Amino acid sequence: MRIAVVGGGPAGLYLSILMKRADPAHEITVHERNAPGATFGWGVVFSEETLGALRDADLESHTQITDAFAAWNAIEIRHGGHVVRSRGHAFSAISRKLLLEILQRRALALGVELRFEDEVGDDLPDAHLVVGADGVNSIVRARHADAFGPSVKPFPSRFVWFGTDLVFDAFTFVFRETEHGFFQVHAYPFDADTSTFIVECNEATWQRAELDKRSEEETIAFCEDLFAEELGGHRLLSNRSIWLSFLDVRNRSWHHENVVLMGDAAHTAHFTIGSGTKLALEDAIGLANAFVRHPGDVRAALVEYETERQPVVERFQQAATDSAGYFENVSRYGGFHPLQFGFNLLTRSGRITYTNLALRDPHFIRQLDAWFTGDAGALIAPPPMFAPLELAGLTLPNRVVQAPVGEAAEPDGRPGEGDAARLREAAGSGAGLVLTGLVAASPEGRTTPRCPAIHDEAQQRVWAEIVRAVHEAGARIVLQLGHAGRRASTRPREQGADLPLRQGGWPLLAASPLPYTDRSPVPKAMGAADMKRVREAFAAAAGRAADAGFDGLELDLAHGHLLAGFLSPLTNRREDEYGGTLENRLRYPLAVLDAVRERWPADRLLAVRLSATDWARRGSGPEEAVEVARALAGRGAGLIDVVAGQTVAESRAEYRRGFLTALGDRIRSEAGVPTLVGGHLTTADEINTAVGAGRADLCVLETQAIAPRTGVRW
Ligand SMILES: Cc1cc2nc3c(=O)[nH]c(=O)nc-3n(C[C@H](O)[C@H](O)[C@H](O)COP(=O)(O)OP(=O)(O)OC[C@H]3O[C@@H](n4cnc5c(N)ncnc54)[C@H](O)[C@@H]3O)c2cc1C
Repeated sequence: MRIAVVGGGPAGLYLSILMKRADPAHEITVHERNAPGATFGWGVVFSEETLGALRDADLESHTQITDAFAAWNAIEIRHGGHVVRSRGHAFSAISRKLLLEILQRRALALGVELRFEDEVGDDLPDAHLVVGADGVNSIVRARHADAFGPSVKPFPSRFVWFGTDLVFDAFTFVFRETEHGFFQVHAYPFDADTSTFIVECNEATWQRAELDKRSEEETIAFCEDLFAEELGGHRLLSNRSIWLSFLDVRNRSWHHENVVLMGDAAHTAHFTIGSGTKLALEDAIGLANAFVRHPGDVRAALVEYETERQPVVERFQQAATDSAGYFENVSRYGGFHPLQFGFNLLTRSGRITYTNLALRDPHFIRQLDAWFTGDAGALIAPPPMFAPLELAGLTLPNRVVQAPVGEAAEPDGRPGEGDAARLREAAGSGAGLVLTGLVAASPEGRTTPRCPAIHDEAQQRVWAEIVRAVHEAGARIVLQLGHAGRRASTRPREQGADLPLRQGGWPLLAASPLPYTDRSPVPKAMGAADMKRVREAFAAAAGRAADAGFDGLELDLAHGHLLAGFLSPLTNRREDEYGGTLENRLRYPLAVLDAVRERWPADRLLAVRLSATDWARRGSGPEEAVEVARALAGRGAGLIDVVAGQTVAESRAEYRRGFLTALGDRIRSEAGVPTLVGGHLTTADEINTAVGAGRADLCVLETQAIAPRTGVRW
């Protein structure tokens, strides 16, 4: 087979080696626009698992690469005058230049033709297989853009990739707070004399520091000055080192006819997880193996390569995006204790969790546990999940919340035996806090005829019994008080979501007369009298919840229900003082909160459930949610229960595991209010990680998702 490889970076060179090894009869030409020794960047990092794959694919180059490695096992985090070190992380790094030299030598030895200073233009070489391994600005990708469907977007941060003659002994992160904002360094050794030294900041900081106006020399001088303490007289070395924005590259498809993309041409993963070269090399392994399985069948091999590699790469891209987001917003965590700051950094992309770190570095986790429970000297302390929490007058024994779902109320709105049983079971689970489902503040506020309510004496009495039972089981209980608004009067959930009642429906109320689905009735836009009546109903219900003995009250401003309907521009089209600006849209929900607060004891927790994003075009997003959370906290909300979506029926949900943690993290750190998050958290590890890293204060553990599968009872 005649193979033309465009690009002599790690991807193209390694593929040519593996293809030649697999079949020496292949005629392989690598077209590289640069001269042999000319490349960008300094050292690149590898993890242990990559190395295993390289050894199996080509022992010869693996041996040469690993012989040249600088290896270490510590990560050091310097911030605010503190230094935190974590050990047990196996890293290796190599100079990019040396890596390319090794791969070039190996390719030549196997008989690959390397054509340097040979820039491929719009006319791609003629071959049985054309490989686009030409990096982030790939010409091959551009040539067949219609077929590949690329998306190329800059991350909103800037970086400059230096070397330095200071040899670090750990992967070192340095954070420096300046008048312009946070700058951070990612530094690690890659040979006996040199380290990589990448300086990064977010776009706003970069603009404020006017770094766009500085030349290469001035940039070096700026960075040397900023990190003079760490550099200790050592120099920063430039290799065409200028400020860049990292490009996020994705492609709908990686192949078209006999043309295939690999490495950065196909996908990038933000450099803060140091995986681009690894992914490029693994692409080469995947592609070469596909040809071993389908010799001479280009189409079958390319389909297999893409099917196998795309999901793997997407997982890395998600981790890389989370990691990049962490560094963009790291100033949020500037006030954290050094240990928590470090733990937050180490767990930023989800690839290291509490449990992983406990294995890698038990000492670090012991210190974190001790600090978290408030006894820095303790040798043995419970993990963050089991640390008690004091919250607005409520003392919780641990950070786990059970929020059982289901509605089983009597026709008159009294909670049914099914509701009571679920809450009692949740209370006996060991969770510190139990949260009810939506409890209606008025008859027309019920979601379905099975939705429990708390607007009369009889309902209050049953709730009081449930509260007693929960307390006897050792847990605390919070009532979620709401009004379903335009999502009211529907059939029970098990018959389908948001299906209007066939019979016995009741009139709906909402901020604006917009039905929830095509089949939903049109709600009445609330007038002044409706607003007064509903506000008073909420206040009266809050008084009843207090009398029933609830430990906390959670006001529902979520999921497209009545009060949430005022918040979102998608569902609030009012032209009076309750619509338009965010300040106006907040007016009615805040008025209800005020009314509730007057009837709710000052020494008990008042929480709010808030949709942090509408997940819909032109809807509210996390930025607005932070503003809302701030306003709510300013009016007495001591906890935000963060949820997402369902504002409009057509919202585009992103229900990946732990999907609420990042949203909650943002609200917690930017609005400065404690948060409760769920989002399919099913393990202690996820809760220990989120709580220990300061991303949440309380977490809903989804035990229902686990129990039926294990089937174990004792
Ligand atoms: C700051 C920074 C730090 C990084 N750190 C790490 C790290 O620690 N670990 C890690 O694994 N990865 C790291 N990466 C990512 C890594 O550099 C890339 O993912 C990797 O180089 C991708 O390899 P590639 O072969 O696909 O592309 P490249 O390495 O970009 O190679 C593409 C080649 O194609 C050539 N070319 C381009 N166009 C043409 C043309 N028209 N004709 C001929 N030749 C052409 C180029 O000259 C180049 O040699 C980092 C990246 C950055 C920006």
